[in-house]
Amino acid sequence: SSVRGFVHTTGPSRVIFGAGTVERVRAEAERLGATRVLLLSGGSPALRKDTARLREALGDLVAAEFDGAAAHTPVEVTERALELLRERRADCLVAIGGGSTTGLSKALAVRTDLPQLVVPTTYAGSEVTSVLGETENGRKTTRSAPAILPETVVYDVDLTLGLPLPMSVTSGVNALAHAVEALYSPDATPVTDAMALEAVAAVARALSALHDDPADPAARAELLRAAWLAGTCLGAVGMGLHHKLCHTLGGAFGLPHAETHTVVLPHAMAYNAPAAPEAMERIARALGVPDAPTGVFDLITRAGGPTALRDLGLAEADLDRAAELATAQPYPNPRELTRAGLAGLLRDAWQGRRPQ
Ligand code: NAD
Repeated sequence: SSVRGFVHTTGPSRVIFGAGTVERVRAEAERLGATRVLLLSGGSPALRKDTARLREALGDLVAAEFDGAAAHTPVEVTERALELLRERRADCLVAIGGGSTTGLSKALAVRTDLPQLVVPTTYAGSEVTSVLGETENGRKTTRSAPAILPETVVYDVDLTLGLPLPMSVTSGVNALAHAVEALYSPDATPVTDAMALEAVAAVARALSALHDDPADPAARAELLRAAWLAGTCLGAVGMGLHHKLCHTLGGAFGLPHAETHTVVLPHAMAYNAPAAPEAMERIARALGVPDAPTGVFDLITRAGGPTALRDLGLAEADLDRAAELATAQPYPNPRELTRAGLAGLLRDAWQGRRPQ
């Protein structure tokens, strides 16, 4: 029929956005009933000053601090933090950092049901999803539950001004990938479409502006806002080939998260383009280019982002196994997934070719 039906559900999360909003974290934590906060971070020297500002803003609400958040949310790390949480009788989690620190917060929340307040410093978008990825004995598993979704997110543009340009580019393209796949998701709704298109245009504008001035506050704000919108899409609709492929490459071959998203996105788009012409047209229009996959590839190249999986440490000999793993379990995707099709996609991405 000509009527497009849909089901739209969004999680109950509260979002505070602005510059200097870290000062509002104490009041927001108290709003969640916090009296004893466990402050989580990744211990990165680059975030030391921002973490100190957050600690100061929280004042005597801080009951304990854990700075050992690590990539891919290892269960051993979660268990160490859990011990501290129990010993100090924490009643609220406050996390500052990228997707890895958010992951630790989520892993603790799903085990304790404590409320979470997340202060994101990258554009990964995990703070607005109810999905948690964890690793145990080198295996990455993913689960989803209402307790995983953080109650409150405080976006402070000031905390992103110093995110190095290469990380800003790859993390920004990570956000772009959520928006792109939301546009051809079978679960898409008019609301996710609107958020995704706004995010696509904003990421493209912001990355160009940051290229000239990496600390441009207006561009930083635009990119952080886009990350929130794109993350909200990720939390609301199912993702396709691109996300599964990146998950496989990260989990099985240890490739870095945001960089892998950056290399794979144009190729996953090129693969899906024949089966999702309307989404691609809308993305191209939002980017102001004639063709979406090459438009994204050119955006990444201009911004100085990585374009080849071989530069991220994937061995040529692993390409076949990657194609096999990525087709092992079926999942919704606009275009049928074939072993030969994915092998071709991966070869192009490995070599860093501009998609046709
Ligand atoms: P990350 O959190 O691992 O951060 C990467 C590095 O950047 C770290 O060393 C960190 O200390 C540093 N960093 C963070 N913010 C900084 C800043 N403002 N300035 C300087 N350095 C800074 O990387 P990420 O890309 O944010 O997150 C990736 C992880 O998140 C992956 O494990 C991925 O699976 C997960 N993730 C999960 C979801 C979800 O919905 N569950 C969504 C996106 C990502």
